[in-house]
Amino acid sequence: MLIDGKEISKKILKEISSDLRQISKNLGRQPALSIILIGNNPASETYVKAKIKTCNEVGIKGELIRFDVNVDSKILMKEIDKLNNNSEVDGILLQLPVPKNLDERELIEQINPLKDVDGLTAENIGFLNSGAPRFIPATPYGIMEIFNRIGVTLSGKKVVIIGRSNIVGRPLFSLMSGRGENSNSTVTLCHSYTENLSEFTLQADIIIAATGSANIVDGSMIKEGAIIIDVGINRVDDKSRKSGYRLIGDVDFKNVNKKASYITPVPGGVGPMTITMLMKNVCNAAKGVK
Ligand code: NAD
Repeated sequence: MLIDGKEISKKILKEISSDLRQISKNLGRQPALSIILIGNNPASETYVKAKIKTCNEVGIKGELIRFDVNVDSKILMKEIDKLNNNSEVDGILLQLPVPKNLDERELIEQINPLKDVDGLTAENIGFLNSGAPRFIPATPYGIMEIFNRIGVTLSGKKVVIIGRSNIVGRPLFSLMSGRGENSNSTVTLCHSYTENLSEFTLQADIIIAATGSANIVDGSMIKEGAIIIDVGINRVDDKSRKSGYRLIGDVDFKNVNKKASYITPVPGGVGPMTITMLMKNVCNAAKGVK
């Protein structure tokens, strides 16, 4: 069965909108998210635009702060500090990746952890891994919400996550293997050094592919009835499109779909959920997380 991330997102955004009306009343202003974008990476431009658009739709004041690709890190650190000290800014998001000449970790750590709505500061990663998350990174948060909304119980399930990034694979490993309300799975974290990937995927009740390698999961690698969450976003040439390309996931959708019990499409699966759960994190920041 196809998991319609757009439809699930719509429902959650409606809930968030009504929550936001109350938060705005309490605060006497709209909750606010500041997004810092350095340079003009085309994919980042698209994501930032979508985030600001969703902010406007749900009732969050979304602000985009742009910097030239050659900006000095001292200027960025100062800007982040300014936002940290601005009581009318609830969330700060540094759009990743930052240009190679900058120290991504240093910039992330400059963000006040109470405004770190991406959940990427060491403090927030620590909270997540200790089983008491403050801000859950939006993509894993969205995936966990998908399981809740489609009514899949994770307890005791065998899960294979492919990809070990700080924004997807690692936090998801922590959430799914943790003691949370819908977790307690047995999780294997695979990556580019994993030998014989299908040895693991063939055992899995749930496979999460988050690699950025198109079609690395094909039909022969999954068992009948597996649940497939495709996080990957890959551009492939498509002359029939005006843009000249189309987006596909990490999963060979056509063949995997024949065996899967549930599957997320690309686009329209995990992507919309990511932006939605970012909005949820901004709500939580505006409510005043501890
Ligand atoms: P990343 O580049 O930081 O990490 C990729 C991971 O995949 C690495 O751990 C690497 O070891 C592993 N990997 C790569 N090729 C592999 C292979 N052939 N076999 C096994 N493991 C392999 O990536 P990321 O930031 O986590 O993003 C992964 C993908 O998910 C990208 O396509 C990205 O665009 C997409 N993404 C989508 C969303 C969304 O909202 N849908 C959000 C974040 C990332």
